[in-house]
Amino acid sequence: MRVVILGAGFGGLELATRLSETVGGEVDVVLVDQSDTFVFGFSKLDVMFGRLPPSAVRHSYRDHVKPGVRVVRAVVHAIDPVAKRVETDAGPLDADVLVVALGADLHPGATPGLVEGGHEFYTIAGAFALREVLARFAGGHVVVGVTSTPFKCPPAPSETALLMHDHLTRRGIREASRISLVMPMGVPIPPSPGASAALLAAFAERGIEWHPDRCVQALDPARGVAVLNDGSELPYDLFLGVPVHRVPAVVEKSGMTVDGWVPVDPLTLETAFPGVYAIGDVTSVGTPKAGVFAEGQALVVADRITALVRGTAPSGGYGGHGTCYMEFGHNQVAAVDVTFLPGQPPRGTIDGPSRAIAADKVEFGAQRTLRWFGRTYVAPDQPPV
Ligand SMILES: Cc1cc2nc3c(=O)[nH]c(=O)nc-3n(C[C@H](O)[C@H](O)[C@H](O)COP(=O)(O)OP(=O)(O)OC[C@H]3O[C@@H](n4cnc5c(N)ncnc54)[C@H](O)[C@@H]3O)c2cc1C
Repeated sequence: MRVVILGAGFGGLELATRLSETVGGEVDVVLVDQSDTFVFGFSKLDVMFGRLPPSAVRHSYRDHVKPGVRVVRAVVHAIDPVAKRVETDAGPLDADVLVVALGADLHPGATPGLVEGGHEFYTIAGAFALREVLARFAGGHVVVGVTSTPFKCPPAPSETALLMHDHLTRRGIREASRISLVMPMGVPIPPSPGASAALLAAFAERGIEWHPDRCVQALDPARGVAVLNDGSELPYDLFLGVPVHRVPAVVEKSGMTVDGWVPVDPLTLETAFPGVYAIGDVTSVGTPKAGVFAEGQALVVADRITALVRGTAPSGGYGGHGTCYMEFGHNQVAAVDVTFLPGQPPRGTIDGPSRAIAADKVEFGAQRTLRWFGRTYVAPDQPPV
């Protein structure tokens, strides 16, 4: 049996690792990615705020060495979900089970003025380029703004505003600056009232201006203003945006999408095409677009493939549960525990923020770096604020 996994991100890496552990000798697993390295989403914040150099956060797929797993570096050009056949620039691949884990593509160019007059911190290139920009910034109005929904890691804009406060404070220019946060939701973390209250209190304490229920529609670099979708404008000196997210073009072309994302059975992650699964950000499964959810979905699909190989019943359905670590600044992190189940309102609780949970987040990165790449994790610097 051949399992072809498209995308070696959070979901694809965990799926390949788990399959190697369970059926590594019995199944041919092919893991395809266009990139040569993996970067954790949260490491983008570590690099841009100068807490780690770029070299410390790139994990080479050469180090993903697992019995029964072959990593292929290639761009996927076409997916035929009926034939379970994939065209790549390294040749075609036929699968018995196909798993689409290609994530969400980012489109800074879809927001007028963003590329010319602002910055974005969601792509690897964008976040890494901001390292120098933030190191040189002389103070002024920083606007952190979301341009559309859905977007990955809903806490990330709030984390960025809080870490920006520390960054400007350390550099002695906080007094000469303003920080504004523009978000499309009414509260920062809708499924967790506790997390939202803690964030709103932290914004108020640090003088971070909160603009809910709005998106940034465009930048007008000539006038130095961000134009919001309610028609209002915010002047900015430094704009950090969350760009428009879309399913990768190859997935759109495959005919697997409905309303822009891949629908799946919320319990099994199987698509409308038998033997074809989708996990992570590429889906519309109903959980937030975050690595921990992609990983949880990978475990369900691994279990189903293992059961298929062994001729046994799969052990259970997807529970929609994940714990997200959220940077609060002051070298503290909170853990937000959320559960999304079909037909039920999402539930969430918050633990922290504290330094002990900051250590747990380091452990989270260390465990995955060891598990996926056999490497030691480099923890970010925590300079005093
Ligand atoms: C600033 C920031 C902070 C974040 N913090 C967190 C956090 O603290 N915790 C958390 O859980 N999540 C966090 N996230 C979100 C997390 O990074 C993503 O949700 C997660 O990576 C999604 O996993 P995935 O497997 O669905 O897709 P991805 O990890 O995006 O992987 C998709 C892979 O597919 C490949 N690919 C795409 N198209 C093609 C193609 N045509 N051919 C070949 N390969 C292709 C890509 O190269 C990529 O490696 C953060 C994100 C950002 C931007």
